[in-house]
Amino acid sequence: MSASVLIEPIYLLACVSFILALKRMSRPQTAASGMVFAGFAMAAAIAVTCAIPGMENFALMGVAILLGGGAAYYAAKKVAMTGMPQMVAIYNGMGGGAAGAIGALELLRGASGVSAAFSALGGIIGAVSITGSVIAFLKLQGWMRERPIVYPLQKASNLALLGAAIIAGALCVFRPSREILAAFFILSAAFGFLMTIPIGGADMPVVISLYNALTGVAVAMDGFAIGNFAMMVAGTLVGAAGSLLTLLMAKAMNRSIPSILFGAFGAVEQEGGDIAGSLKPIEASDAALMLGYAAKVIVVPGYGLAVAQAQQKVKELMDSLESKGVAVKFGIHPVAGRMPGHMDVLLAEAKVPYDRLFDRDEINAEFSSADVALVIGANDVVNPSAHRTGSPLYGMPILDAEQAKNVIVLKRGKGKGFAGIENELFYKDNTRMLYGDAQESVSKLIQALKDV
Ligand code: NDP
Repeated sequence: MSASVLIEPIYLLACVSFILALKRMSRPQTAASGMVFAGFAMAAAIAVTCAIPGMENFALMGVAILLGGGAAYYAAKKVAMTGMPQMVAIYNGMGGGAAGAIGALELLRGASGVSAAFSALGGIIGAVSITGSVIAFLKLQGWMRERPIVYPLQKASNLALLGAAIIAGALCVFRPSREILAAFFILSAAFGFLMTIPIGGADMPVVISLYNALTGVAVAMDGFAIGNFAMMVAGTLVGAAGSLLTLLMAKAMNRSIPSILFGAFGAVEQEGGDIAGSLKPIEASDAALMLGYAAKVIVVPGYGLAVAQAQQKVKELMDSLESKGVAVKFGIHPVAGRMPGHMDVLLAEAKVPYDRLFDRDEINAEFSSADVALVIGANDVVNPSAHRTGSPLYGMPILDAEQAKNVIVLKRGKGKGFAGIENELFYKDNTRMLYGDAQESVSKLIQALKDV
């Protein structure tokens, strides 16, 4: 029996493993094992691809795998959680680039008919994904202006560019030549670049998710072009999962995909209107008294917690409060932070038990019975202006921290949230502001609690 009969069954096994991996990654408790399933599936798919009859250039592939794998291993160990969105962006770009390269190679090798059409589709989507993802990376890394870059006739010129890329792609299929192929990829890559620069840095996580979906689609197209079963299935899975995630993120932010892609959100500083009341500071010792004598505290973590890397200290604070008989719960908003599941991952890293984490629907009814809502580096996700028509946040479901008897907000100063608007919660009579970096403020609270 030739070893090649095992190729399809092993591909099938890898596909099943990819599906199980995705399923397991949807819950924090099983996410780590989901990564193991995905790693196994990838290793099996690579190994079996090497066994395809006629495969050559093993040394070159080995060097590429070692270089890519080494860089990924180093980055995964080194990158802080706050840097995760840009790391995902650059990995995504690599996937898009690989898919684009496969499409280009197939066209260069003279693919024809349906295979050429799929190669061209894989090529255009892959090329758009790589330049778009690189811009997303540069913006999130702070190496490029985060604010949207806008200029007159931007949408019309982008549309014309896309049209030109599509025509060049069609020519590649029907009247191929090297020059047309080069023009096709240059136009496609330029379109990815130009359609991403008008998107603001804070919308980038949604855009990354969209490019992730597109990369999956490009891989699936290439799979159809070269008749590779694993690429068809894995690409379709990534495309479907990425699309769903994009829609979920947009929904949780109450934004439509077109408004994210074409709205240039953040180009103009938003204002929240006049707010009655004043910001009332509090000392850590007084805040610790309120917390120490509370029966129930709901912690609302946000992006600032990630910036301050305060998760370990927050866990210490939770332990300290619980040792005093205070019930501590965490209210997790689906878009708190800058990527889906950001808060879950940070708190899991600090070993906060999962049974203390509650999503918005579960926790909102509990704020009215909480003595303190402790808002740590969160802003938009607790902004009551989301209930008011006319607010840029209107319609975004928020965590109703304002209903707690007391609210203590940990933030550094008057910095606004991602939406760029004032937060009237901070001005309410029952709200106190504990200013400073979240990690330092939580440390002070832990220290002060020792005397309570
Ligand atoms: P926000 O971005 O609204 O607010 C974060 C707050 O943290 C700021 O007001 C800032 O105030 C404070 N902060 C920053 N650094 C520190 C620090 N070191 N210590 C203490 N505080 C700090 O965060 P939220 O989590 O409330 O909201 C997330 C926003 O991001 C939402 O609008 C959401 O739509 C958006 N978004 C989320 C995505 C996701 O997938 N999760 C994707 C894309 C966008 P100050 O400067 O005064 O300290």
